[in-house]
Amino acid sequence: MFKHKDALKDAQLSPLWHAPEIMPKPEPPLDGDENCELLIVGGGFTGLWAALQAKEREPEADIILIEQTFVGDGASGRNGGFLSTSITHGETNTDAQFPGETEKIKALGTQNIKELLETLERYGIDARHEACGATTIASSPEFVEEMYEEFLGAESAGEPVTWYDQNAIKEEVNSPRCFAGYKRQDGLSGVVDPARICWGLKSVLLRELGVRIFEGTRMISVKPAGKTGMRTLCSGGVIQSHKVLLATNAFTSSISRIRNSVIPVWDYQICTEPLTDEQLNKIKWGKPESRHALSNYNNMFHYFRLTRDNRITWGGGGAVRYYFSRGIDRNLMDAPARYEQLATEFFEMFPQLEGEVRFTHRWGGIIATSTRFCVVPGVMHEGRLAWAVGYTGQGVSASRFGGRIGIELLGYQPSEILKMKFVRRKALPWPPEPFRWMAVKMTQLALVRADRKGGKRGLWLKFLDALGLGFTC
Ligand SMILES: Cc1cc2nc3c(=O)[nH]c(=O)nc-3n(C[C@H](O)[C@H](O)[C@H](O)COP(=O)(O)OP(=O)(O)OC[C@H]3O[C@@H](n4cnc5c(N)ncnc54)[C@H](O)[C@@H]3O)c2cc1C
Repeated sequence: MFKHKDALKDAQLSPLWHAPEIMPKPEPPLDGDENCELLIVGGGFTGLWAALQAKEREPEADIILIEQTFVGDGASGRNGGFLSTSITHGETNTDAQFPGETEKIKALGTQNIKELLETLERYGIDARHEACGATTIASSPEFVEEMYEEFLGAESAGEPVTWYDQNAIKEEVNSPRCFAGYKRQDGLSGVVDPARICWGLKSVLLRELGVRIFEGTRMISVKPAGKTGMRTLCSGGVIQSHKVLLATNAFTSSISRIRNSVIPVWDYQICTEPLTDEQLNKIKWGKPESRHALSNYNNMFHYFRLTRDNRITWGGGGAVRYYFSRGIDRNLMDAPARYEQLATEFFEMFPQLEGEVRFTHRWGGIIATSTRFCVVPGVMHEGRLAWAVGYTGQGVSASRFGGRIGIELLGYQPSEILKMKFVRRKALPWPPEPFRWMAVKMTQLALVRADRKGGKRGLWLKFLDALGLGFTC
């Protein structure tokens, strides 16, 4: 019988999704000066979707995309692959941040995910999408009542939801940590393999839409050039363009408005070897009709799902970290304590698998957390420089919408969305260090305490709730 540390012993430090046999060859870096109409900085979902939507709106647009490492190396190629309909990190957050726009935002979210899936299909990108919805479980009895009320609210709003009481949930996911659950099933949301989306989009941009991509190319600075252009200094050369879109997540930015509105929060994940049928039977999860995409109802929630070959990816929980003074160093990915914590928590959820199942991969990635917990768009220099960053933990589908906002702010067929509070309202800036670190730390401790007390929120969380700032991951 091996314990959680042994189970992790051979786990490679690399996202499961970055399998060498499907990783495309990186494009050569910039080598000399270039000109274009639109420069996009960042080869994650935001940048890739922005390029694709700009090209579909204006096929003649001459676009360059640069990426400092390789496409899909940021959060977009490292996430859990939970594809959600929401573009604002859930309805509760929408109500708190953008009162009066809930219905409009919901409709835009549904339109966005539909268009996202249609686009993947149109270009033949196999993202391994499973429309399994999203299932939330109560991992302690104290949460059941509150969760049931949430379920009733969704049901009376006409949403397609299913309730599982304690006996029923154990038939779906057999764990001593499951006391009830409910599933939202809209036929669209579910799970994907995120890196396949990145690389599929990259291939379409290069081969079908004529976008030039330079990988291994870092933007060093960006400045207006004259009255109509922008000058971007990169490793490898200077790019002169009419417009620039920054799709740089929470990586350091020379623009103070971006720097102050998002902080880099590290999220870690581990992944098991493929489970055998016998192991799946033990946990009763994985039957064709119940391949749930799971998360628990806690503040510091885990998210876990099955892959096509029946591995379990497991992330979130207490392993989420903000490091003092905007730590984005790649070495922070190798954080043994975080992976051990995740493994311990995994076997608390599925003790039947302890001593039987090993982890093959472990990895971390940077979430851009904003004080409004959803995308922060912005524009300056008379509409020549725009950005879309800060989806917090829910950006797989929302980043396509972020890319849309970004290009519309730059004048690519602007629509009525630019009039919405959602787009126009500025995000509250994060306080400077050391207050930032102290505030995040205090909030995380308060969230852990609230989870231990069945969700009962203390004074600090109530204060943040009053400001619309109730959570951090
Ligand atoms: C571990 C983890 C799990 C997650 N799970 C989920 C999930 O299950 N569901 C969900 O909806 N969301 C999830 N998210 C969030 C989601 O992945 C992100 O919101 C989304 O991928 C953001 O996309 P992006 O393009 O804005 O950022 P990124 O994918 O990070 O792309 C930004 C890119 O910009 C590049 N860049 C930055 N600065 C420069 C520069 N100066 N020059 C050139 N290039 C630069 C970076 O290298 C990077 O590739 C998760 C995130 C993480 C980290």
